[in-house]
Amino acid sequence: MTSRAYFAGLALLTMASAHGAALSAETPADTVYRNGYVYTVDANDSVRQALAVRAGRIVYVGDNAGARARTGKATKVIDLKGRMLMPGLIDGHMHPQSGGSRLLNCSLNYEALTVPQFQSRIQACLDKDKKSSPDRWLVVVNWFQQGMLPDGVQTSAATLDALKTDRPVIVRSSFGHSVQLNSKGIKLAGITRDTKDPAGGKITRDAGGDATGLLEDAAQDMAMNLLPPLTVAENLAASSAALAAMRKQGITSFLDAYTDPETMTAFTDLHKQGKLTARAHFAVLIDLDKGATPQSAVAELLKQQKQFDQGPTTVAPSMQVRHAKLFMDGVISAPAFTGAMLEPYLVNKGTAEKPDWQPGPSAGPASYFTQDALKTTLTELANARIDPHIHVDGDRAVRETLDAIEYLRSTPAGKDVRPALAHDEIVAPADYPRFARLDVTPVLSFQWAKPAPDTVGALRDYMGPARYATVEPQAVLLNAGARIAYGSDWPVDPLDEWFALKVGVTRTAAPDAGKEYAGRLGAQPGMPRAAVLRAITMNAAYTLRQEALTGSLEVGKLADMIVLDRNFFTIPEEDIANIKVLQTVVGGKIVYQAGGMR
Ligand SMILES: [Zn+2]
Repeated sequence: MTSRAYFAGLALLTMASAHGAALSAETPADTVYRNGYVYTVDANDSVRQALAVRAGRIVYVGDNAGARARTGKATKVIDLKGRMLMPGLIDGHMHPQSGGSRLLNCSLNYEALTVPQFQSRIQACLDKDKKSSPDRWLVVVNWFQQGMLPDGVQTSAATLDALKTDRPVIVRSSFGHSVQLNSKGIKLAGITRDTKDPAGGKITRDAGGDATGLLEDAAQDMAMNLLPPLTVAENLAASSAALAAMRKQGITSFLDAYTDPETMTAFTDLHKQGKLTARAHFAVLIDLDKGATPQSAVAELLKQQKQFDQGPTTVAPSMQVRHAKLFMDGVISAPAFTGAMLEPYLVNKGTAEKPDWQPGPSAGPASYFTQDALKTTLTELANARIDPHIHVDGDRAVRETLDAIEYLRSTPAGKDVRPALAHDEIVAPADYPRFARLDVTPVLSFQWAKPAPDTVGALRDYMGPARYATVEPQAVLLNAGARIAYGSDWPVDPLDEWFALKVGVTRTAAPDAGKEYAGRLGAQPGMPRAAVLRAITMNAAYTLRQEALTGSLEVGKLADMIVLDRNFFTIPEEDIANIKVLQTVVGGKIVYQAGGMR
């Protein structure tokens, strides 16, 4: 140290002891990142060169020279070598517990399989677990039922009876609308020729009237109810696996969009062990089905909040219970047609060769909340300072929910609420501007806006061309001024946030998806890259009431951030899907690091 620098330092120290603020400004940082493409997601989407972290918070964002001024002897300096540093991902709608538990199950990984491949994959799981008793169910998950090869091939109990096992087998489709059983499974489920279809479900039968073991929608419960609930250890393993998957993806905060006390107990245990590596938010279901009133349902939510909520956000990740989950309808996809639509689903009144698609008898079910019940529930939630996260898939569910929120906004309690509408697969164009006007955040799963078995073919037929042209209204809602947030809905799809962001930009499937899924979904534009990143950072932070502390890289905010192996903004669009996270930091602490970081 030269004597001049020494005296300058001494002078600073003297000033610092007189003025505490000066001390904190010049205290060396714990970590400095330099030579980077620091994408801040601030109000102007500024790009900087360097960033400094102290005590888990961002204390500087600027250039290398400014970072150098905050570098002391003990400061860890990370040379980004031009790599992109950005805010950690915030997943505004996922199901971590079922996602995590599926990582531990026998999984078909959402792959398109031939029947022999399907069989050999399941046989491998059986062979790995030879000690299980003959009555123990083998649960197989993430079956891409619509993607079986060749196109249109059907499975039945016989497909699974060919396996070498005495155990009952249940294969669950990734869409969640069907399961396939083997013959032992059918027997244990008590399904015979005479068993009637349950309400809202279907037992698929062969030409002779015998059950094929394929159960759809509500009929799935006949087998699912026989599976033992997860044990405490299994729940812990599931949340632990979920967090590991999130770290690798770069997720630093998430909303469990439909939780239960078992899940929150598991996350509480991990928190106690210092293993909670993401800021965890939980939405408790409000269901008026079983005699509950809006008042009693909200009281139950508050009881769970009291038990599991850990108070305001801290530097170290913690748990918050500040959201309610409501379902207004089901899904618009076949064969469920449980999405509540303004106009009927079309049915084929012609023949297979000469189809004639005309309005059918059904526009989906009545919304699961009446307008009165929804208004009362939203008001109760607003009074309890709980934000509603509402499942709406069809355009009638969307409209009725916006109507209730319009009422809510006109009341004193409703001014400060942050309603989020999840999914929004079809929205009537007249309702696009209402999201901005009523300050309602659409929480969208960008990866759905691609040609896929559930978005091409049948969907176009039963929606008709006009409605089909509006499916997955992402950029159009954005252009209508909506604050779009992202939610993966994992495990409906694999947890692959970078693929989802790619689809948000391109509206194309993966290159290996097959010829029939080439090209873009419809004529709608994709979203700009900056908007896609804002959706999974700042805007998702807003829905979690965490935007003052996370979602962007700005001085004073928590150091939740990720380093990428390539630059999101300069690589070709399709390459966005290949982005790998090299480092994930939560509250200044590195929770994940890939080999390529050094
Ligand atoms: Zn969901």
